[in-house]
This record gives sequence, C-alpha cells and structure tokens, in this order.
Amino acid sequence: MLTLISLPAFDDNYIWVWHDGRHAVAVDPGAPEPLIDFLEANRLALTAILITHHHRDHTGGNTPLRQRYGCAVHAPAHPLIPAVTHTVRGGDSVDIAELGLHFDVLATPGHTLDHVSYVGHGHLFCGDTVFGCGCGKLSEGDAAMMASSLDAILSLPDATRVCCAHEYTLSNIDFAKTLDGDNPALLERERTDRALRAQGRPTLPSTLALEKATNPFLRFHDPAMAAFAARYLNRNHPTPAEVFGAVRAARDAWHG
Ligand code: ZN
Ligand code: FE
Repeated sequence: MLTLISLPAFDDNYIWVWHDGRHAVAVDPGAPEPLIDFLEANRLALTAILITHHHRDHTGGNTPLRQRYGCAVHAPAHPLIPAVTHTVRGGDSVDIAELGLHFDVLATPGHTLDHVSYVGHGHLFCGDTVFGCGCGKLSEGDAAMMASSLDAILSLPDATRVCCAHEYTLSNIDFAKTLDGDNPALLERERTDRALRAQGRPTLPSTLALEKATNPFLRFHDPAMAAFAARYLNRNHPTPAEVFGAVRAARDAWHG
C-alpha cells in the first residue's frame, strides 16, 4: 500500500512524498526540514530523491538528505544541482525497487532548459511546468519549447493526477477568469479550490482532465484561446505556440 502526500515548504512549495510505511521517495525537496520531520515522525527511510530542475527551491535539500539517508538522487544534468547520483534525460526511466515504483522521464523544457517531469502509476510530477490552472514562467526557454513540452503532457491519460511543485492555483484561477470567465468548469473549480484552501488543504493533485477543461495554458489548441491570442497579438490565425505565448505574456503582464 503506497501513500502519496504533499509536504508544504517555504511559502508555497510542495515536496511530494510516496511511501509504503518503511521506504519513501521525495520529489523536489527544496528544504530538508519538512521532509526530515515527516520521515522521522513516520519512521521512514528515504530511498530516493527525484529532481525536476535546477532551481534552488527544488534542490536545496539534496546535500543534507543524501548525507543523512544515503539516498539516490536522480536529476537532469545541470551544474547547479548538488549531490546527484544518477543523471536523467527524456526517454530514461527510473526504478525505485524498494517501493516497486517505475517512472518514465519526460523532457519538459521551457520553465528551464533542464526541466524534466516524472510519469508513473497514473501520476505526473511536473515541477514548475504545469501548475493548478497555470504554468511555469519562461525563465530560460521560449513559448514554442514550452508548448511542445505541454503537448507531451497533454498526450498522457486524462485521469493522470497532476502533482505540481507550487500552490498557485487560486491566483491562477483569478487570471484564468479574465480570459474565460464564462467557463462553468473553471467556476466550479474556483468554488472547490477556494473551499480547500479555506480549510488549509492543498488544491493538488488535480487531474489532467480538470486542467484540460480549466487551465488556459493547456488550451492553445482551443478556438476560444486562439481568438483571445488573435486579439492580444492583433494578428489572425496564430499558431498553437503563438497562442500559448500570448496567454503566457498576458499572465506576465497581469497584476491581479
Ligand atoms: Zn523553478
Ligand atoms: Fe519552483
């Protein structure tokens, strides 16, 4: 029996942890303390860390956690990621034998060039690529690169549970409403997720089906988003990558 939980870290990060009561694997432990507290309280041994990209709020726990537990650290090749034991790239897979877990590595560049996501057992650990009703900033990549990463995510099954690395869902919903205020699925999501946050609970994981219905950054093939992009760019027939780029640019310019 495996249990998946999200541990809050910093202001809005989540460290995802999968465990079986004895062994645990953690995704993007940006800070060691919340994870160590959880592992100690539940008498768990940390077997492996999965890293999505080089930003410090995702990798800051690597060195102390590897020192303490001797765990494997799987990460894309990047000079700023410490304590890596296994480098991964798109097309690779990661097996965590102690937990019987198998993940496929998906290259998802855009937020950063090194960004990867991990897919397995009906779950997607997408770091800062997709957020609840949102997506990561283009810190290093461009819109075409991110759109093609999002296309790879869109090809996963609708029931895939989307495990994002930040709790940004409510502000993303506020922005999405500026584009898509009549979307009943979005308004329903707003009610549900506001209630969850009011109880101090995470809005994640979501499902890919819910993201497809509500997340404007995943709808660059949708005529409604294309119409928005045509107005925003003042140009007819934008490509899907241009539609994505227009939504991303509008979000970057939005101060809600
Ligand atoms: Zn990041
Ligand atoms: Fe981050």
